[in-house]
Amino acid sequence: MILSGKEISAHIRQEIAGKVSTFSRKPGLAMILVGTHAPSQTYVEAKKRACEEVGMFSKIIRLEERVSEEELLKTIATLNRDSQIDGILLQSPLPSHLNMQHAISKIDPEKDVDGFHPLNMGKLLLGLNDGFVPCTPLGIVELLKRSQISLTGAHVVIVGRSQIVGKPLAALMLQHDSTVTIAHSKTKNLSTLTSQADILVAAMGKPKAITVEMVGQGSIVVDVGITRQDGRLVGDVDFENVKNKCKALTPVPGGVGPMTIAMLLQNTCTSFERRCAS
Ligand code: NDP
Repeated sequence: MILSGKEISAHIRQEIAGKVSTFSRKPGLAMILVGTHAPSQTYVEAKKRACEEVGMFSKIIRLEERVSEEELLKTIATLNRDSQIDGILLQSPLPSHLNMQHAISKIDPEKDVDGFHPLNMGKLLLGLNDGFVPCTPLGIVELLKRSQISLTGAHVVIVGRSQIVGKPLAALMLQHDSTVTIAHSKTKNLSTLTSQADILVAAMGKPKAITVEMVGQGSIVVDVGITRQDGRLVGDVDFENVKNKCKALTPVPGGVGPMTIAMLLQNTCTSFERRCAS
């Protein structure tokens, strides 16, 4: 079974569009883009298009590569105060003279629709539901749930421990009563672990590193990896060989990627609703 994030996210976007059409104003998302990193340009443009499609307002604030930290923080502070803006996103990576974590900590946690603010990360770890969960982990869980794949008691092996995927996904999976193992580049006997997974999540950024020998028969495989190779997007899983051994698999592209964008829209909508209610 191919787990089509493209199809499932299209349903979610439809649901969001229906909701947005009943709102008194358009929910607003601001995206800060520093410099000219080509993939980042593509990502923010895709997010902007997605906002337009569901009837949300969005704007891209482009700052030059050499922008000072002071100027960046001033931009964030202005957006924090802007009543038309419900979500603020700082596109990574930042140029090396800027500190991503410090900048994120200056975003109003109630507008932190990427869920990367320390307060929102803490809430996720504590299992509190009034924060924001990072979009990729949220998208993975939504994709599995909508595909009728049960997380309760499932052994989930996550390869990758980044702050945007591996760590928050582990916390979210625990909230859904999975048994979680996290692996990383120093993990020993990786294939012994991965082949025991009921649900294997590859988030390493290493093209086709998950080979057929590393996957258990009848398991569910989620490929988060995206690497551009010869003009094509390649995942972390050797799709062609693994697809015959596992029960279900996400493709790249068309798997986790579109779910991530759908969850960004969902979080922005949630922020709008919370702000209206308060
Ligand atoms: P990072 O580089 O921040 O983290 C990669 C993780 O993988 C690290 O924890 C690293 O271990 C681990 N790792 C690397 N190589 C190996 C290996 N050979 N064996 C075991 N573990 C390994 O990446 P991100 O989490 O930001 O992204 C991962 C991938 O997911 C990228 O391809 C990225 O483009 C993609 N991505 C896709 C998204 C989507 O929407 N589909 C969203 C976000 C990311 P260690 O910590 O020891 O270095």
